[in-house]
Order: sequence, then C-alpha cells, then structure tokens
Amino acid sequence: MSLLVVGSVALDTVSTPFGRADDALGGSATFFSAAASLFAPVQLVGVVGDDYPLDALDFLAERGVDLDGLERARGESFRWAGEYSFDLNSRETLETRLGVFADFQPKIPEGFRDAEWVFLGNIDPVLQLDVLNQIHRPRLVACDTMNFWIEGKRAELMELLARVDLLLVNDGEARQLSGDHNLARAARWIHERGPRYVVIKKGEHGAILFTPHSVFFAPGYPLDEVFDPTGAGDAFAGGFMGHLARCGGTDDADLRRAMIYGSVMGSFAVEKFSVERFKDLTADEIEERARHFRDMTVFELPVDAGV
Ligand code: AMP
Repeated sequence: MSLLVVGSVALDTVSTPFGRADDALGGSATFFSAAASLFAPVQLVGVVGDDYPLDALDFLAERGVDLDGLERARGESFRWAGEYSFDLNSRETLETRLGVFADFQPKIPEGFRDAEWVFLGNIDPVLQLDVLNQIHRPRLVACDTMNFWIEGKRAELMELLARVDLLLVNDGEARQLSGDHNLARAARWIHERGPRYVVIKKGEHGAILFTPHSVFFAPGYPLDEVFDPTGAGDAFAGGFMGHLARCGGTDDADLRRAMIYGSVMGSFAVEKFSVERFKDLTADEIEERARHFRDMTVFELPVDAGV
C-alpha cells in the first residue's frame, strides 16, 4: 500500500481577509502528505533550499512520512505568495519563485521505486515525467497541474497525460486545458488524451468524478468558518489517494468513497492557515465528518417514482 508523492515543498506567504501568514509551510507535496499520512504511509519526493526550516516537517515524519526522497539543495526554497478576495473562491498569485526547483532532478530512492500508488503533485510536468520514468509498476498514477504549467509547458503536460490514470484539476484548469467551457465535455476531452478518471474540483462547491461509465458528485462541506483555502486541492488529493492506498482497490465504490475522503480532507485544510489543522487531526474526526457527508447526501425517491 505504498503511496508516493512528488511535488513542491514550499514556503507560502498567504493573505486572506482574515489575516496573513509569512513563509508558512506549503507546497503540493506538503499538503498532500499531511492529509494522506492519516490514511497510509507516504513516501515524499521533493527539494528544499538551505533556508528551509526542516524541523518544521518533524510532525510528518512522526506520522509515517518517509522523507528520504526530500533533497536539500544549496539555494532558496520554492516560494509562492497569494492573496484571496472576500469570497475566498478567487485567488491571485502574487509571486512564484521556483528557487531550487528550477534545477531539481528528482532521484527516486531505490526503496520508493516499487510504490503502488503515485501522486504527481503540481510541479513542472517535466519533473512529473521524470519521476514516472523511475517507478516500476504502479497500480494507479494520479496527477495535478495548474495554469502556470498549462500555459508554460503544454506539450510536456500532454505527454504526461497520456501516461496517467487520473487527472485531478480544478474547474478553471479543466476549462483552460480543454478550451471548452462545459465541464462534462472538458472531462471527455481529457479522457481522450489518456486519463481513465478525471476529477474536477470546484472549490467550496464540491468535486465531480468522471469515469468512462459514470459520474459521481461529492459536495463541499458547509463550514461555518473558512480561514485559508490554500492547499485544499492537495489535501483533497491526499484524502483521495490515501483512501485508495488504505483500501487497496479502485472499483467504482472505492473511487466514490475516495471522493468523499478527499472532500473531508479538503474541508479540514481550510479551517486553519497552512497545514496547522492537520497537526492534531484524529482518525475519529475524519470518520465523523465522512458520516456527515453521507447524511448530507443520502435520500430516497418517492415510492410512486417506480425505482
Ligand atoms: P492548492 O491551494 O491546493 O492549489 O495548492 C496551493 C499550494 O501549491 C501552495 O502551498 C503553493 O506553494 C503551491 N504552488 C503554487 N504554485 C505552484 C507551482 N507553480 N508549482 C508548484 N507548486 C505550486
């Protein structure tokens, strides 16, 4: 049930209407690991600069995240800065500084190469491909991307898509990638380029799973308070992949439950700045929220509906 993630390990500066965090722990691999490690052991591949406060990642190591694939290079860590407007749905990227990621050449430790479940977090698609080339026979490969790479590395991204089983993107990215405003058609466009499964995230409005035979919708969790949406997508991916690694299957029911655990972990991510909410999150809290999701969505048709 080994679950490998490659992605950014970042220092984020985030402003929301409720406050600001400077150089907080961030990055796709960090959020993913913080969420996924509550389901299954995680192997992390990434790079940080010599300015990175490595001991801040101790909580991940204590929870079974293997950091052997986290390289420490000379130079500045990846930094991202973003600002959210009042409705928290739209964010503006103020700065992306690749730092040590610009010259990163992932070297997958021997012990990681048999990973069965692989998540290629949001980084340069060239690096995502490079990682994929070093892994033996994964059962399922999922990947994420964003506008930055859709605009800047489209050809490489298309090459990657042909080799992955599942693409997880938000609605804006699906539209940008496919050039189609309609999400059902956008998902079909993506299917035709490789991924069997497409998950389109719609922020607080939930996420949709498109498989070749079915569509499943997971709502967003109606929270009283949303503090910082950063990392919700990666935490969703962590819950999704973590559940698959834990249950060991990919049939329709497994994928549907994965959608719910993804939504559960995304909803926890936004309750505090950075990865703070994951530090003391318990398995009981996760299961309780999953039950709320079930209660929120179960319904029966009238008897005379004839089904
Ligand atoms: P999410 O809110 O799930 O989209 O993820 C936000 C995280 O992605 C932040 O912690 C950033 O550090 C990271 N991030 C932002 N832009 C990039 C990029 N171009 N490449 C890799 N990671 C990024």
